Amino acid sequence: MNTQTKIDAGELEKLDHWIGGKSVAAAEDYLEITNPMTGAPGLLVASGGKSEVDAAVQAASAAAKGWRKMAAAERGRLMLALANKIRENSELLAEMERADTGKPMAGARAEIEGSAAYFEFYGSLVYLPTGDILDVAPDQHVFTKREPYGIVGVITPWNLPMNQAARAIAPALVAGNVTVAKPSEITSRTTIALAQMATEVGFPDGVINIVLGTGQAVGEAIVSHDRIRKVAFTGSVGVGRAIGRIAAERIIPLTLELGGKSANIVFEDADQDIAAAEAVKGFTLNAGQVCSAGTRLLVQRSIYDAFMKKVVAEAQKVKPGEGLGPIITPAQFKRVQEYFDVADKDGAECLTGGAVATVEGHENGFYIQPTVYGHVDNDMRIAQEEIFGPVLVAIPFDDEEDAIRITNDSDYGLIGTLWTRDVSRALRVADEIEVGQVFVNVWNTMSVQTPFGGHKNSGYGREKGIEAIEHYSHVKSVSIKI
Ligand code: NAD
Repeated sequence: MNTQTKIDAGELEKLDHWIGGKSVAAAEDYLEITNPMTGAPGLLVASGGKSEVDAAVQAASAAAKGWRKMAAAERGRLMLALANKIRENSELLAEMERADTGKPMAGARAEIEGSAAYFEFYGSLVYLPTGDILDVAPDQHVFTKREPYGIVGVITPWNLPMNQAARAIAPALVAGNVTVAKPSEITSRTTIALAQMATEVGFPDGVINIVLGTGQAVGEAIVSHDRIRKVAFTGSVGVGRAIGRIAAERIIPLTLELGGKSANIVFEDADQDIAAAEAVKGFTLNAGQVCSAGTRLLVQRSIYDAFMKKVVAEAQKVKPGEGLGPIITPAQFKRVQEYFDVADKDGAECLTGGAVATVEGHENGFYIQPTVYGHVDNDMRIAQEEIFGPVLVAIPFDDEEDAIRITNDSDYGLIGTLWTRDVSRALRVADEIEVGQVFVNVWNTMSVQTPFGGHKNSGYGREKGIEAIEHYSHVKSVSIKI
C-alpha cells in the first residue's frame, strides 16, 4: 500500500485529506493528536473546513453519475477487490489503528477483518433486485426501483475507526451513492488508508473522499452542504441532536448510531461460567469504548453473590496493556475517573478496580483498571449514563418482569443480552425489551449480516445487513399506461 502514514517514524507524521483520488495537503493548520499509550504528541492531522468539503463535494459530484451507471458486476468486483486489499494489508492497518487508539493488536486485527467483511458482504449484494412490479390495473405496468441519494456524508467516531467508516461507506456505495467522509480527528489514519486502497484497486476518483478535521469545522460543513442529500452519523447523543437540527432544516434523512447502556441479563438457570466470562468481555472490549458495551449487568437475586464472585475473578484476569487498551484522550480519561467519585457519593460498592492502572513502558498512558460496582441501583448515574470506559455496574433483579422493567428504564436501547436455558423465557423477554438487537447466550456477535441500530437515544436507521442498503436509497415508482 502506497501510504503516507508511516509508523514509528522519529518525527511527527502529517496526515492529509483524500479528495478526488489524491492526497490534498492542509490549506493552513494541522491538529496535533496525542498518543493515548504514551500521553505524548502522536500525529499531525490536516484541519479542514468548508472549502475542503466543497472540493470533496465537487469531486464526488463529478464521479456520481459514472458510479451510479456502472454495471453492477463491475461495482461488485471493485468492492471485492477492496476487501482483498484490506486483508493483504491487514497487519499494517492494524498497526495504524493501534498507533491512533492504543488498542491491543488482537482487537485492532479483528476490527480490520470486520472492515474487509463489509466490502465483501455488500460487494456480494450488487445483484439484489432493487424493485417490484405492482398489480395496479390490467392496463397499467407499474414498477418500483431503489435509487441512490447521490452524495452521502459519513461522520464517524474514534473507537472503531476503519470499521465504522467501512460500515457506512460500503452499503452507501453498493446502493449507487458516492461519499464524502469525515473520521474522528483523533483517529484518521485508517480511513485515509481505506480511500487510498480504493483508488489503488481501481475505484474511480471522487467515489470516496475523506476530509479531515474537527466536527465543528468539517462535520457541520458536511451536514449543511446543499449537495449532500443523506448523512450517516455514528457518535454521541449530543452531536447526533445537533446534526438532527440541521438535517431537519434541510429536510434530509439521517442514520444516527448513537450511544448505549446495554443490559446483560443473567437468569438463575444460566450457564454461569460462560455468562461471567462473556459479561467481562462485554465491558472490557476496546476498554469499554464500544457503543454496544454490556455495561449494565442484571443478575437474578438468587444467584447474585455466587455469580458476582465469578465476574470479579474474570475481570481481575484482564490486564491493562495488551489485555485492556487505554482510554482515548486525556479528557475522556479524566471523565471516567470522575465517575469513580460519582459512584462513591451515590454509595455504590466497588468490587474491583475503581482506579487508574500503570502499564510498564507506558507509564503516562491513559489506562484504567477493569472496574465492577455491585448492588447498584438503576437510578444511580453510573447505571444511567454512558461512561465509555471499562466500568460495569451490577444490578440485582427478582424475576422476569423486574428484569424487563430495569432494562427498559434507560434513555438508551441499543442491545440486550439474555443468559438462560429457557427458550420460552428468552423469546418472551426478547419481545419486551426496547432495544435494536437481542442476543441469547452469546454476547454481541457483531456480524455484518445482522441489522444494527438503536431504539430511543441510541438512534434510528439501521446499519449492517440488507436493511442498510434501504437506508442509503429511496424508492421511485414508474406507472405506465399500456
Ligand atoms: P462525537 O459525537 O464526539 O464525535 C463523533 C464524530 O462527530 C467525530 O468525527 C466528530 O469530529 C464529529 N463531530 C463532533 N461535533 C460535530 C458537529 N457539531 N457536527 C458534525 N460532526 C461533529 O463522538 P465520539 O466521542 O467520537 O464517540 C463516542 C460516542 O460515539 C459514544 O457516545 C458512543 O456510544 C458513540 N458510538 C456509537 C456507535 C453506534 O454504532 N451506535 C458506535 C461507536 C460509537
